[in-house]
Amino acid sequence: MRGVHDILPAEAAKWERVEGTARRVFEAYGYEEIRLPVFERTELFARGIGEVTDIVQKEMYTFLDRAGEAVTLRPEATASLLRAYIEHGLHVHPKPVRLYTMGPMFRYERPQAGRYRQFHQLNVEALGDDHPALDAQVIGMLVEFFRALELAGRLQLQLNSLGDAKCRPVYRERLLEYLRAHAAALCAECRDRMERNPLRVLDCKTPACRPVLDAAPSVQEALCDDCRRHFADVREYLDAMAIPYVLNDRLVRGLDYYVRTTFELTTAELGAQNAVAGGGRYDGLIELLGGPPDPGIGFAIGIERVVLLLPPPAEGREGRKPFAFLIPLGAPALRALLPVATAARASAVTVELGYGDRKLRSELERANRLGAAWAVIVGETELARGEAVLRDMASGAQHTVALPELARELARRFEVERSRS
Ligand code: ATP
Ligand code: MG
Repeated sequence: MRGVHDILPAEAAKWERVEGTARRVFEAYGYEEIRLPVFERTELFARGIGEVTDIVQKEMYTFLDRAGEAVTLRPEATASLLRAYIEHGLHVHPKPVRLYTMGPMFRYERPQAGRYRQFHQLNVEALGDDHPALDAQVIGMLVEFFRALELAGRLQLQLNSLGDAKCRPVYRERLLEYLRAHAAALCAECRDRMERNPLRVLDCKTPACRPVLDAAPSVQEALCDDCRRHFADVREYLDAMAIPYVLNDRLVRGLDYYVRTTFELTTAELGAQNAVAGGGRYDGLIELLGGPPDPGIGFAIGIERVVLLLPPPAEGREGRKPFAFLIPLGAPALRALLPVATAARASAVTVELGYGDRKLRSELERANRLGAAWAVIVGETELARGEAVLRDMASGAQHTVALPELARELARRFEVERSRS
């Protein structure tokens, strides 16, 4: 299939690092994990993302199930998360209700580097609270996540306010009027989009459109007093946390229902796929989906794009080397070593076990190739004495250990080694 990809073991360490960092940072800010289904009724996304968005019009994986119901593989997580918030009455908890989730998303897009049809996101939402200090802390947490990954210096935070249900429609009209007057100088896609979703036109990447779009009226000048004050507070709190940002009054987001604070983290290192994370406030959306009139703010991080920015892990595949290779010589020795391997693994010592049907020399070669620090040899003689031979693979030095002590001895040596490195 085009646009899907496998995450091979050599890459998985980076994914674990990204996901582990997210859990650690988000939980420090009081966010709890919620796990959601990967498909929902199509109607949820049509309403929750907006009928006139690119996602709903062109990018959804939609099909009829066997009962004839239209279902869609989720293109983003917010709509599902809000559905769960409403369905399970999570609004009764102290506000803001803070949730995060991670997993695959599906969009029918033209595949290229950093753009897939199945990709993965980390999603964060804070619900039921519209204080500007919350906006600043949500953004602060996003920045903190990238700091923890040592990537913050390579990203730029772009910030805008899109106004609310009062002032945004006024701006929309003003912008539409301007775009109509300059339609001749815009690309076909802009002209096509303009009547349906004029704000999204500001996002056009066609160089020829830029002069007209750069001279378009600014949303900043159209903000009502409440929105102006809210945005000024958000900026003041970001300053108080020493979080640098660039004010970008052309920044609009793909979702229809973004209001007020809107932001994106971009990089100069990934070509056209320059957005690594994006988010914003969506007051009114929970109510639109049939819930209480709770405001909300959140963001999504594209994991593939984060992984592209990460350096290869220092240890590479070294971490997967077995600590010891257990070599039984013959079937009785294999039976004696099977429970030893189980016990060692239960104490988190990685061991591999031969089958007892090969020559000692070839098994020692194998231990070498696997990179095991120790070989443990049990032949007929050792078995009769109730012993095992421990061989240091680096020096070749050998000594014996009583079989009942073997698993504990391996665990002890493993600890010593680990505390040294
Ligand atoms: P773009 O402008 O790149 O299409 P978007 O505005 O559609 O991004 P969002 O819906 O805001 O993206 O999703 C949040 C993040 O998810 C993006 O910033 C990006 O890192 C990632 N993302 C979005 N679409 C894809 C995709 N098709 N493949 C990989 N990552 C993606
Ligand atoms: Mg997109």
